[in-house]
Amino acid sequence: MEIIMEKIRMSTPIVEMDGDEMTRILWKMIKEELICPYVDLKTEYYDLGLENRNATDDQVTVDSANAVKKYGVAVKCATITPNAARMEEYQLKEMWKSPNGTIRAILDGTVFRAPIIVKGIEPYVRSWKKPITIARHAYGDVYKNAEMVIPGPGRAELVYTAEDGSETRTTVFDFKGAGVLQGMHNLNSSIASFARSCFNYALDIRQDLWFAAKDTISKKYDHTFKDIFQEIFDSEYKEKFAEAGITYFYTLIDDAVARVMKSEGGFIWACKNYDGDVMSDMISSAFGSLAMMTSVLVSPDGNYEYEAAHGTVQRHYYKYLKGEETSTNSVATIFAWTGALRKRGELDAIPELGQFADRLERAVIATIEGGKMTKDLALITSLSDVTVLNSQDFIRAVRATYESL
Ligand code: NAP
Ligand code: MG
Repeated sequence: MEIIMEKIRMSTPIVEMDGDEMTRILWKMIKEELICPYVDLKTEYYDLGLENRNATDDQVTVDSANAVKKYGVAVKCATITPNAARMEEYQLKEMWKSPNGTIRAILDGTVFRAPIIVKGIEPYVRSWKKPITIARHAYGDVYKNAEMVIPGPGRAELVYTAEDGSETRTTVFDFKGAGVLQGMHNLNSSIASFARSCFNYALDIRQDLWFAAKDTISKKYDHTFKDIFQEIFDSEYKEKFAEAGITYFYTLIDDAVARVMKSEGGFIWACKNYDGDVMSDMISSAFGSLAMMTSVLVSPDGNYEYEAAHGTVQRHYYKYLKGEETSTNSVATIFAWTGALRKRGELDAIPELGQFADRLERAVIATIEGGKMTKDLALITSLSDVTVLNSQDFIRAVRATYESL
């Protein structure tokens, strides 16, 4: 007799943002094999594939971000950010902006990236036992700078003209010869959003939060970051952190780097925009694989958008189109789905969704630790008895493990 399991019911939809190329193929397989057999999946579907972004003049991206504000939880597939080559390939009306940039601007969010740890894919840093999550401030500094090439002797000044016309100025440098010059800014409101996203996320995952900048050298710019974090922590989060048994601390960026290298992991490292750009590549490479990094955008008012940190894996997609076999790693995309389902379950008080997400993640890890993996991992694993699976067979193997747990 066949036992028909009842599917887990959902009460609120997840905002589903479909995407491009190989990840779009994986997306469908993951839903069919790993989610829909077990969950009576409710989503509000937005097709962020490049063709539909072009057809809707990118309105679909804006609509999907607004839907995240309404429902609170989203899961996003990787998407193409158009460049000149894509203009031609997809016959685009315009070079549409990066969807992630558009969504981040609407949600005012911070991106948290963390590696998925499995036995057999060892970090290059021996002391690291737990994931290190990088939180990168995604506004301003050198990414919105003004620069000048200085041709020869002269005075460079910073001038602020207030609305009433009054001026404040300070000399940057009296040039005696040629050189270069740069002006940067940030906003208290953006720094405060960044801080709140970090504090909320630390409470969410119950991990310590580190924040580092260079306030000893940058006594106004970086010091303002430090002060805003401290003020918000003291007035809004101190007690909550104590209750959760976690800590917040600020240190200098060079001290942070030294501590990170000697740490066991298991904390969130909040970084200014440039530091986050550099350090997130360092962390993901040192943990082994970009295909094993998860990413979640958290807004200061508590909306969550989950995705994989990698792109659309274009090269594999072209092989797929030619009918060749691909071995594309779907782990980070599966974890984007489990992250969103777990959060939905938490917000709607449906513990079965969280239990499902936990079990599916355990199944993924057990499958890899049991020696079944995609080619990218097979190339770097320390396990000796390895079976390399194609894209589809890996997902099927995860399902088989799930059924056996
Ligand atoms: P990518 O898609 O991350 O792929 C770069 C290379 O990394 C791949 O060619 C592959 O190496 C390896 N790789 C990445 N993810 C993998 C996975 N899941 N399984 C196996 N191997 C994986 O980056 P890209 O080629 O620079 O970008 C492709 C497109 O993605 C671009 O149009 C870009 O705009 C977009 N993108 C989107 C996002 C996003 O939506 N969040 C992020 C980054 C890039 P091998 O070819 O050597 O196997
Ligand atoms: Mg970078």
